[in-house]
Amino acid sequence: MRSDANIAGPMTDPVPGPRSESLGEDVSRETPPPMDDTPIGRAAQLAVEALGRAGEALPRPEQTRVMVVANQKGGVGKTTTTVNLAASLALHGARVLVIDLDPQGNASTALGIDHHAEVPSIYDVLVESKPLSDVVQPVPDVEGLFCAPATIDLAGAEIELVSLVARESRLDRAIQAYEQPLDYILIDCPPSLGLLTVNAMVAGAEVLIPIQCEYYALEGLGQLLRNVELVRGHLNPKLHVSTILLTMYDGRTRLASQVADEVRSHFGNEVLRTSIPRSVRISEAPSYGQTVLTYDPGSSGSLSYLEAAREIALRGAGRTAGQGLSVNYEAQHSTPEGTQ
Ligand code: ATP
Ligand code: MG
Repeated sequence: MRSDANIAGPMTDPVPGPRSESLGEDVSRETPPPMDDTPIGRAAQLAVEALGRAGEALPRPEQTRVMVVANQKGGVGKTTTTVNLAASLALHGARVLVIDLDPQGNASTALGIDHHAEVPSIYDVLVESKPLSDVVQPVPDVEGLFCAPATIDLAGAEIELVSLVARESRLDRAIQAYEQPLDYILIDCPPSLGLLTVNAMVAGAEVLIPIQCEYYALEGLGQLLRNVELVRGHLNPKLHVSTILLTMYDGRTRLASQVADEVRSHFGNEVLRTSIPRSVRISEAPSYGQTVLTYDPGSSGSLSYLEAAREIALRGAGRTAGQGLSVNYEAQHSTPEGTQ
């Protein structure tokens, strides 16, 4: 059971983030943030306990699952989904690498990874052929989670890659040569379908598409799916859309449920039962260099990403995730039926 007493503390910023000053006293809080001196891993464990399945071991994939988080539409929750799913899988005991393939470097920021211009980064891997192991950094306080950061250099890579040998498969080669054991690699793509995203699609077998529950949600999706087909046809026969995740779901609006229904009727099985609610805590976490899992372990956002990760792990092992939690995430303290 979740115990708020364990995470209650003074309303201080846990880790002063780049924008922490601007988040003044008017910031809404579902629960107080963890105390400065609270081990973040222990705080995150509370989230697992809140789901009523403390210690549940999820199946580990037999081979590393490389998941490409892509949608050329901007601001749909790619980065948020990448970092929070990665942290959730790591908290379930998996070894997870996040590859930040977006020059904005948002995933690196959200994981608290330094990514100023001099830091060895995924640019060096793609353009300078540096081994991936030279740029991977452990994520502070989340055991089993690692990040290959992106720096601003990556902004030029789309153009620099054009003249390089094997320009579409440079990331794939780097991943193949990486010797550390990993259960998952999650690649956070930029909001475009250029060479960076193509490199991700050549390197991965699975595409995970976050879809924001808004009016224009499905626009542009055809283009993305055509690109997946093209890459599958010419460069990577294993590539397929394995997972669709509805994000920023606001159960109070009819529009959100209409979009969700439409996505489910289009895609059926690929859509995770769990949707991610619109949550202030999810959007606040990156400014503290944290995932929502560590920033506010018991919040609805944290619990929904844990549940989505559980579904992904169970689906990968050919099992269903049971009933799952409702999209409105009402049942935070209940144990869903069919828990395995
Ligand atoms: P880009 O295309 O620029 O890379 P993106 O698809 O990676 O964007 P995010 O950066 O993950 O999207 O999210 C866009 C914005 O929405 C961010 O400010 C993020 O904090 C916020 N956001 C994402 N998911 C949620 C959510 N479930 N609830 C509230 N805010 C959210
Ligand atoms: Mg992003």
